[in-house]
Amino acid sequence: MRIVISDLDGTLLDHDTYAWSEAVQALDLLKKKGIPLILCTSKTAAETREWRQQMDLVHPYVVENGGAAIVPPGQLGASGDGQQIVLGTPYPQLVAALRAASLESGCRVEGFADWSVERIAEVCQMPLERAALAKQREYDEPFVVLDAERERPLIQAIGARGFRTTRGGRFHHILGENDKAAAVQRLLALYQSQHGPVETIGLGDGLNDVEFLRMVDQPVLIRSARVETLRAAVPHGLVTSQSGPAGWNEAILQLVAISA
Ligand SMILES: [Mg+2]
Repeated sequence: MRIVISDLDGTLLDHDTYAWSEAVQALDLLKKKGIPLILCTSKTAAETREWRQQMDLVHPYVVENGGAAIVPPGQLGASGDGQQIVLGTPYPQLVAALRAASLESGCRVEGFADWSVERIAEVCQMPLERAALAKQREYDEPFVVLDAERERPLIQAIGARGFRTTRGGRFHHILGENDKAAAVQRLLALYQSQHGPVETIGLGDGLNDVEFLRMVDQPVLIRSARVETLRAAVPHGLVTSQSGPAGWNEAILQLVAISA
């Protein structure tokens, strides 16, 4: 069984416009071949549900940088309300740790907890309704650093408190002892137990994708200004020639169409 695991922002969705129409051909090919597409994002469950609906996807998904893996009803034997595998640390603990680390390091930060829905909409260039879904955070706090020269002491102070940080396309993130790879691993184990061996393709564009890209059989690095950093971390990754959904389309057509 083949499985595709994909980041959203800057990968399947355009970094600036969130458009994905350029990936329609490849999305249709996956559906036609019955290949599951697992979205694996730093977005919240509420946001990801909306994107899945728009793209007409039914498969399990990973939210908030691996804070939870969600199996919808009817997928992988999940019944009733489905299954939620929680790997993350509760949001209030993350917000408190970020504030304490900010004070201790003298590095000012602003995160989603500090921002109104209107402010999130402005920073992320998204409509208010979507920003409201983005604020419904459970296991990951995105933030910006206001004192760039104090960033290193801040990251160290966060680490000293037992929390992790990672970077997506727009924000730093503070999270618990989880990452995208651990959550993907849990879902793959369920697929393996029901369907036997799986062959995996993973697509991403950010440093928060490195762990799961290293884990899959065929990593795909979506071109962006950061692609050389990503290539250094995942040297065997296939680098797309185009960015965002156009690059996604290109890679899937190339990797899936050539195999029966
Ligand atoms: Mg991304």
